[in-house]
Parts: sequence; structure tokens; C-alpha cells
Amino acid sequence: MIQFTDVFKTYENGIKAIRGVSMELEDGEFAFLVGPSGSGKSTIIKLITGEVAPSDGTVIVNGYNMGTIRPRKMPYVRRTIGVVFQDFRLIEKKTVYENVAFAMRVVGATNKEIRQRVPYVLDLVGLDTKAKMKPMELSGGEQQRVAIARALVNNPRMIVADEPTGNLDPARSLEIMMLLEKINELGTTVLVVTHEKEFVNNFSKRVIAIDNGHIISDGLGGYYDYELEQ
Ligand code: ADP
Repeated sequence: MIQFTDVFKTYENGIKAIRGVSMELEDGEFAFLVGPSGSGKSTIIKLITGEVAPSDGTVIVNGYNMGTIRPRKMPYVRRTIGVVFQDFRLIEKKTVYENVAFAMRVVGATNKEIRQRVPYVLDLVGLDTKAKMKPMELSGGEQQRVAIARALVNNPRMIVADEPTGNLDPARSLEIMMLLEKINELGTTVLVVTHEKEFVNNFSKRVIAIDNGHIISDGLGGYYDYELEQ
């Protein structure tokens, strides 16, 4: 679960990126986070992943208080979150299988665990036949599926995706959104930052709209056009 209570984030240069945000994302929920460029979306993601600390207010992520957490505890909270980026961030020299397996190796999984889990997640994202390929041999949509498999492989409670379809054409974007929806239906909490109005309005999911560091609306689909285009 994510819980923001009256959160502020002021960067060292004085920019007030987040100004009094309160919101909650329950376990098992799916939500879109939308808003214009510079509105504070990435800062919210970074507050969730612990990349930046709140200047004021409280950020609780899966039971950890991100403002007071000790650095040595940070790996524990990070393991509860799988992060997906716009630019995939795959290791080019490794195969699809090894990219996903590597995420398990770094948290100390055994070879047996890896052999059991990696084929399962590759099948889940529809890449079971491409395990031996390298990222360069895949389409953008397939590369993003590898990144999603990697985010899922350690069985996180939550997936946080920052513009996951930003580099993809509309058909591939729809496939990625549907995959994230399926992952949510299997029980993982999903938060997706996106500019893709089409999806936001067609998926009828919760939409949290942010502008200028404030939440300006929070509710079921359709709010995006209404709030931002008037
Ligand atoms: P979005 O993801 O919606 O585009 P960001 O969270 O990246 O918005 O940025 C919100 C505001 O904070 C912007 O004005 C941006 O310039 C500023 N900002 C983001 N990151 C930093 C940083 N590391 N240092 C200083 N200012 C930053």
C-alpha cells in the first residue's frame, strides 16, 4: 500500500515539485497518474521508490516510512516494488532470460529458484519463445515486456511504471497496458504514469491527475480530459 499524507518535496534548487499531496493506493488497486510535463509525476514515483526523500509530510510504502527509513533497510522496501521505465533499461549483452534472471541473482536467489521462476514470468509476458534472444533482436514492445518480466520476477507487491509506453506505437502501447492490467488482475498493485489519454479514458480505472505539484482530481476514468483541457 502507498500512503502519502500532506507530502511536500522541495529540491535543493528551491523548486517545489510536490506541494501538499495526500493520497492512498490500496493493495490490489490499479491507478493511472497523469499530468502535464513538470507537474511532479516523476517526483511522486521517486518518493515511492526512495530515490528522493520527502521534505515534509509522510510517505508510507508497503509499511515502510520513506522519510525515516534507515539506508540499510532501503533494499527491503525496494524489493516490494518492481519499477518499469520508459527506456526499458535492459542489459544489451545479456539474453532475455539472463536479463530477467539477473534481477533474481542480485537478491541472492538460488539457481533452482531462478530455473523455476524465470520461465513462468517470461510465459506470463508472452516471451517464452524469445528467451535466448538479445534485446537488440526484439521490437520495442517486446523489450518493454522483458522489462516488465524483470520487474515482476522477485514477486513484488507493486509495479510502478513511469511512462512505460512513451517509446511505443499505439498498438504496442495498448498491448503493454493490457499486460499491466492482467498483472493487476493476478493480484499485484499497479501505478502507471502516462500521457496516453486514449488509454486513460478507455480503461475506466482510477485516474489521479496532478498539476503543479497538487492533486487536481482523483477518481474513475474520464477525469483527464475534463480537468486538463478546460
Ligand atoms: P513530471 O514527471 O511530471 O514531468 P517532475 O517530477 O520530473 O515532473 O518535475 C517536477 C518539477 O521538479 C519540475 O519543475 C522539475 O524541473 C523539478 N525537478 C525534477 N527533478 C529535479 C531535481 N533533481 N532537481 C531539481 N529540480 C527538479
